[in-house]
Amino acid sequence: MRAAVFHRPGVMVVEDRPVPGFGDDEILVRVRAASVCGTDLRISRHGHFKIPAGARRVQGHEFAGDVAGVGAQVAGFAVGDRISVTPNVGCGHCRFCRQGLNNMCPDYEAFGISIDGGFQEYVRIPAIALQRGNVFHLPADLDHTAAAMVEPFSCCLRGQEALQVGYQDTVLIIGAGPIGAFNVMLAKLAGARLVMVANRSRPRLDRMVDFGADVLIHTVEQDLEQEVSARTGGRGVDVILTCASDPSVQALSVQLLATHGRLNFFAGLGVAEPVGIDTNRVHYRGLTLTGTTGSSNSDYAKALGLAGGGRVDLGRLVTASFELEDINDAFAYAASGAGMKAVISFPDDDGHDRRAAGSDRARTVTAVATTTSGAVR
Ligand SMILES: [Zn+2]
Ligand SMILES: [Zn+2]
Repeated sequence: MRAAVFHRPGVMVVEDRPVPGFGDDEILVRVRAASVCGTDLRISRHGHFKIPAGARRVQGHEFAGDVAGVGAQVAGFAVGDRISVTPNVGCGHCRFCRQGLNNMCPDYEAFGISIDGGFQEYVRIPAIALQRGNVFHLPADLDHTAAAMVEPFSCCLRGQEALQVGYQDTVLIIGAGPIGAFNVMLAKLAGARLVMVANRSRPRLDRMVDFGADVLIHTVEQDLEQEVSARTGGRGVDVILTCASDPSVQALSVQLLATHGRLNFFAGLGVAEPVGIDTNRVHYRGLTLTGTTGSSNSDYAKALGLAGGGRVDLGRLVTASFELEDINDAFAYAASGAGMKAVISFPDDDGHDRRAAGSDRARTVTAVATTTSGAVR
């Protein structure tokens, strides 16, 4: 089989590997779709503390596929079942895992980091992932491509549940990448009164209308504070999610909040640094500042239900589809910010892309020819 293998920072090679073996308590999955995430880009450039120097790893933690082999002791899965996984497998016994918060487990294993992930034709699902509830059957109407994107969507769902977004809220989302788009969809689903999106780059910002944004603020041409003030009658905004890794955005967001406003520092900063926040404003206005990271298996189940029930159409985020052989182009595309989500699609036995053949979502999938070199940036 073919696999995209991370060798060291800056070097990912598509190479032949044997189809993984699997134990009596494991399953083998044939990958059908795997989307590229900012975390994949970061690992491909800088490595990861859980990938020892010299180790080779298949990345890709947002994927869906079909069960291709089932160990003798495995119950509940059969060959042909359509499945997806949540990437972070908790240890199962720390105080977070015992509360169902596998996303906060300090001693986790993860697909694409410590376990080979979805950028390969077949992936072995280890017993711990099955036993700890990380493998999900797909709802009948959800195609593999949309299913791959349930993972990042579930992280956004967690982020908004922490803020309890509701019909009375004005919402500002700063950052118009895929995470910004997921957050727009969720804020609309929660019935938010007004959903504003701010971004520096125009093409991505303009796309946010397609996901339901009511107001676009182009921060190069418009003053964010003035626009927010004008749109909220000078009150400030009730809910903000920062979906851009920028300390100045974090500091400014606190100034934009209304009394009793709630803020989620959703995007981490690549490198931690002190951020000057007006804590008097937090105090006198009774603000709530929080952060969330990842999603639990329970968040994922909810997100899968929303996508499978047709409440959100995650497939609309895909703006480019690549073959595994062109994964370096897919990474370059994702890094360029030219579109939204890049997805690696795997052809069927008969050479057809099953998603493109069977789903009306195919029309939203635009195959793009990239002119970038094969080098991972
Ligand atoms: Zn991701
Ligand atoms: Zn744990």
